[in-house]
Amino acid sequence: MERIAIFPGSFDPFTIGHESIVTRALPLFDKIIIAIGYNSEKRQFFPIDKRIQWIKEAFQNNPKIEVETFEGLTVEYCKKKNAHFILRGLRTAADFEYERAIAQINKKMVYELESIFLLTTPEHTMITSTIVRDIIRHGGDASQFLPEVTDPDAYKLNP
Ligand code: ADP
Repeated sequence: MERIAIFPGSFDPFTIGHESIVTRALPLFDKIIIAIGYNSEKRQFFPIDKRIQWIKEAFQNNPKIEVETFEGLTVEYCKKKNAHFILRGLRTAADFEYERAIAQINKKMVYELESIFLLTTPEHTMITSTIVRDIIRHGGDASQFLPEVTDPDAYKLNP
């Protein structure tokens, strides 16, 4: 059985915290699908095509990594992709409480699905996409929190 993991998230934008989780998880899986949860009705900060492009570039088209978008329930998407693992990062106790409920519900819905959590490395614990967006929105420099390929000005392209 091919060990396929889905790494679901908003990734608006994908930060070096996300990048670190994926890099550390690579030896555990045959394939990691970074899946951008997309709701066409919800306003996004960065255009979806840019987010896909930056993640692909960050991993320089590593053959074990795929980048996709999905709408709807993560468990349904996992079934469609034949993935048995959901990868998530844990920063804080608050993350844990939130993730615990989701993982237990997901398992109840699809028993074969396992959620795998990696603790964030200390230097990435404070990085959140929300704070990064706030910095950029107010004209600050958030580059130290983002993979080099990211263009912070791209949010202006959004309608
Ligand atoms: P979501 O809206 O699903 O929480 P995010 O894009 O914020 O999407 O996060 C996706 C995953 O990445 C989550 O498991 C989250 O805990 C993890 N994550 C977010 N920021 C970091 C970080 N700085 N370091 C490690 N993991 C992170």
